[in-house]
Amino acid sequence: MEENVIKHNFSITQKQRSGLKKQKPMLLWFTGLSGSGKSTIADALEKALFANGYHTYLLDGDNVRKGLNNNLSFSPEDRTENIRRIAEVANLMIDAGLVVLASFVSPYIEDRENVKRIVGNSNFIEIFVNTPIAECERRDTKGLYAKARAGGIQNFTGVNAPYEAPLVPDIEIDTTKVSVNEAVSLILAQFEERIKSENHKSQIEGV
Ligand code: ADP
Repeated sequence: MEENVIKHNFSITQKQRSGLKKQKPMLLWFTGLSGSGKSTIADALEKALFANGYHTYLLDGDNVRKGLNNNLSFSPEDRTENIRRIAEVANLMIDAGLVVLASFVSPYIEDRENVKRIVGNSNFIEIFVNTPIAECERRDTKGLYAKARAGGIQNFTGVNAPYEAPLVPDIEIDTTKVSVNEAVSLILAQFEERIKSENHKSQIEGV
C-alpha cells in the first residue's frame, strides 16, 4: 500500500520551526496506572512550562479516545494501535517544534519502546508515575476500580489487565511521597538539564 507514497521534502524544516520558538522540541511521556496522577501532574507541568515561555501541547488518554481513537477498544491489539497513533501525532507535533506532554496508561513496555523509536531517543523523556495501586484504588477518581472489581469492566489495567512498569524510566514519581508541585519542579529541572545536553550534542554533531 505504501509503495507509491513518496515523501515530499518541504522547504521549512523542523529546526527552523523550533528555532522560531526558541526551544528544543520534546515529548514528555507520562505512564502509570489510572488514578496515579499522570494528568494532574501533566496539567500542572504544562502550566509551568507555559509560564516559562515554552510552546506546548498536552495529549491526554480520555481526550484522544473521544476523538482520533474513538474506534479503538481496550483489547491488547487496540491498546497498541492507540499508542502508535498517539506517537505519530506527537511526532508531527515535535516536527512542528512543540514540547508535547502525553498522559496515557500505556501499560506495555513494547508499546512505549515503539513511541521512543517513532519520535527518536533524543526527543523522549519517560516519566513513570509510580503510585501504589492501593492508593490509586482508594482515590478511584473516576469510579472505575470499583466498577472493574464488580466485574463491570473487561481489561482494566491493574485489576484484570497487566501493567508493565518501565525498567529504567528517566523520572519516577510516587505521589504518596511527592506533592504535585514537587513533581513539577523535579520534572522541570530534569527537562531543562536534558535540553541542555541535547543542544550540546547537536552542536558537536553540527546538526
Ligand atoms: P491519571 O491521569 O493517572 O489517571 P489523575 O491525575 O486523573 O490520574 O488523578 C489523580 C488523582 O490523585 C487526582 O484526583 C489528584 O488530585 C490526586 N493526587 C493526590 N496527590 C497527588 C500528587 N502528589 N500528584 C498527583 N495527583 C495527586
